[in-house]
Amino acid sequence: MTTSTLPDTYRALRVIQDGDERRAEFQTLPLSELPDGEVLIEVSHSSLNYKDGLAVTGKGILRQLPMTPGIDLAGTVLEDRSGTYVPGDAVILTGWGIGEQQDGGYATHARVKADWLVRQPAGTDASWAMSVGTAGFTAMLAVMALEDAGVRPEHGDVLVTGAAGGVGSTAIALLAHAGFTVTASTGRTEEETYLRELGATNIIPRDELPALTRPLEKERWGGVVDTVAGETLAGAYASTRTHGAVAVCGIASGIGLKTTVFPLILRGVSLLGIDSVTCPQPRRQAAWKRLALDLPASRLASVTQTRGLSEVTELAPQILAGQVRGRTVIDVN
Ligand code: NDP
Repeated sequence: MTTSTLPDTYRALRVIQDGDERRAEFQTLPLSELPDGEVLIEVSHSSLNYKDGLAVTGKGILRQLPMTPGIDLAGTVLEDRSGTYVPGDAVILTGWGIGEQQDGGYATHARVKADWLVRQPAGTDASWAMSVGTAGFTAMLAVMALEDAGVRPEHGDVLVTGAAGGVGSTAIALLAHAGFTVTASTGRTEEETYLRELGATNIIPRDELPALTRPLEKERWGGVVDTVAGETLAGAYASTRTHGAVAVCGIASGIGLKTTVFPLILRGVSLLGIDSVTCPQPRRQAAWKRLALDLPASRLASVTQTRGLSEVTELAPQILAGQVRGRTVIDVN
């Protein structure tokens, strides 16, 4: 179905190759420059994630150039050649390679595949959707994975690492809402009040989290949501209680994981991989449905700041430096 009033052009933040350098600049382009896809979307909001920080600062996650970064978006359908959506439908898109392998959400318009989209849950809006964004969606997947692995509140504290970041903040709120006692590990202890307001009971400074010294450490965590990897993950995994589970989400401190199989085979600990990008559609819909119930706009307010698209180039290095608290919604207009 189509509307008769499609624009001729759209405005996008594009990362371009300029000699030896990659840099971001605004461009106005004909609509025909958008990638293939059945659904044309008028984007109203995107968000700022760690990967967007990498893309905008030219750190190599964009598969080709020029490209529009922005790994998530929310907006309104203008046309859909698949017939799944009608003009005016509110939709959300996270992952599937947008803002990495093809143009993403830092633009007034996007063209994408119909089966990548999720309908905006009733009673929510695009600003809420991007306040959740890829980070909140990933946190929801992590919490669901822990629950599916049998982790329950009575099994002990759940540790959240990178706690003041986007995935960490939303994971704390979701876990606390589900009845878990949450220990937050952070490099920013000045954010203690913020983390407690989100629902964390205990705060551990990042450098006080025990690193791995033995294959099996003292049993401490019923479950773990890890966003940083490296030594932190190795220590948390070795300290996970018998039949607990670790949801591995991110690489904020590096990509390494030096450990042994002992927690797996002597304690039945599960290492759970979380990939929000290729998450299958039924799981996506279940996650968004639960997010609408468990993380309404009122609970996200203290986690969220809204900034303009023109501010993204200034914010990108800040998120890479771990200086952005919680979630940043990008108003693209
Ligand atoms: P943020 O930058 O918002 O949060 C990352 C947090 O990690 C920071 O706020 C900081 O928390 C902590 N941190 C930063 N640098 C270091 C360091 N050197 N050592 C230890 N901790 C550090 O990013 P997001 O929350 O958006 O993403 C977190 C991670 O999850 C990223 O690696 C991202 O790529 C990944 N991710 C993965 C997804 C998936 O599908 N698997 C989807 C979305 C994100 P604090 O200040 O509290 O210490």
